[in-house]
Amino acid sequence: MNVKELDALYVANTYARFPLEITSGKGSLLTGADGKEYIDLGTGIAVNTLGMSDPAWTAAVVAQLERCQHTSNLYYTEPCARLAQALCERTGMKRVFFSNSGAEANECAIKAARQYATKKGAGYHTVITLQNSFHGRTITTLAATGQEAFHRQFLPLTEGFLYTPPNDLPALRQLVAENKVAAVMFEVVQGEGGVSVLDRDFVQGMAELAEAEDILLIADEVQTGNGRTGTLYGYMQYGITPDIVTTAKGLSGGLPLGATLLGSKTAEVFTPGTHGSTFGGNPVCSAAALHVLSRIDDACLSGVRERSALIFQSLSGAKGIKSVSGLGLMIGVEPEKSADAVLAECMAKGVLVLKAKHKIRLLPALNIPLDLLRTALQVIKDVCAEGV
Ligand SMILES: *Cc1c(COP(=O)(O)O)cnc(C)c1O
Repeated sequence: MNVKELDALYVANTYARFPLEITSGKGSLLTGADGKEYIDLGTGIAVNTLGMSDPAWTAAVVAQLERCQHTSNLYYTEPCARLAQALCERTGMKRVFFSNSGAEANECAIKAARQYATKKGAGYHTVITLQNSFHGRTITTLAATGQEAFHRQFLPLTEGFLYTPPNDLPALRQLVAENKVAAVMFEVVQGEGGVSVLDRDFVQGMAELAEAEDILLIADEVQTGNGRTGTLYGYMQYGITPDIVTTAKGLSGGLPLGATLLGSKTAEVFTPGTHGSTFGGNPVCSAAALHVLSRIDDACLSGVRERSALIFQSLSGAKGIKSVSGLGLMIGVEPEKSADAVLAECMAKGVLVLKAKHKIRLLPALNIPLDLLRTALQVIKDVCAEGV
C-alpha cells in the first residue's frame, strides 16, 4: 500500500489532507513524492520559522540530540533554563512554563488566571475571549475558542467562558461589569478566524480596562509570535504589556514546544505539584528554540517587514483579489474565486498556500528568499486573475 492508502486506513480521520506527500525540503523549497518542487508559503502552519532543515538549526538540534534527548523535569537541563531566560529578557515577563503545544500553553494560562483570581473571592473564574477566536482543541481551549461550529459535537465543554465581538469596547465593558471575570484572552491577529487584525484602540482599551479591574490580559501568540508579525511578539506593536503571553507553533522552528510566559502578577501562582508536563521544556526542543530566538534579530525582523510590504504591494488591488489583510508574514488574501480553487490551482503550479475561512493564508518562512517570494506571488496573482 502507498502512503495515501495507509493513511486513509490507519490514521484518525481528523484532517482533509491535500493530495501531496512531502518528502524533503531545503529552506522555502519543498520536494513532493511526485518529484516536483514547491515554494512553501505555509511552513507547516507557521511552524518552520527558518524554513525546512535550515543547516544551523539542524546542527543545533543534532548537537543537543547527541548529548541528551530528555531527562524529565525532575532534573535541571541547560537548554530549558537558558530558553526561559532568553524569553523573559526579550519580553519583560518573569517566568516561563513549558509544554508541547499551543493548546497546552493556553491551558496553563487559564489555570494561572483562575489561580490568581482566587484572591478576589469565590466565582471570579470567568475568562472572556473574542468571537471568531481560535485557542486550541482540548476541551477547555475549545471552550475558549469563540466559534460555535467547533463546539457542537463535544458538549459539555469546560464552564466559565464568555465571548465578545472583536473591536467592540462597549460590549467588553458591559460583559466585565456583569460578570466575575478573571481574564481576557485574545489574538492580536486572529489566524484561524480569517487573518483579522485587531484595532489598536480596541487592544489598548482592553488593556486599560484589564488594568483598572485587575483582570489578567492574556495574549495568545501561538501563531502571531516568534517574529511572525514583524516584531518578536505581535502585542509589541500595540503599546501594551500583557500579564501572560502564550506561544508555540514557530517557537522552536519545527519541534513541539509550547511556552506560557508569566508576568509579575502570575509569576508565583504555581508551586511544585500544581502544574506539569512530562515533555515540557525538553532539551532538544529547547535547544531548537534557543537557536530560533538567536536568529530573530533586528535584521531578521526588518526582513519580515520588507517581505510583508512586498506581498501587500504585489497583491493589493490585483485582478481577482478583493482584499489583503494581516500583519508581517501572516497574511490573508480574499480571492473572488473560492479559496479552495485558488489553493488547488496554486499547488498545481508549484506554490503551497493555506486557507483561513474564505481567504488564502500566507505564512512563509521569515527568511524566504525574495526571488522565490516574487515567483510565488506571480503565481497567486495569475491564479486569482484567471477566469474572473
Ligand atoms: C494553532 C493555534 C493554537 C493551538 O495550537 P496547537 O499547537 O495546535 O495546540 C492556539 N491558539 C492559536 C492562536 C493558534 O493559532
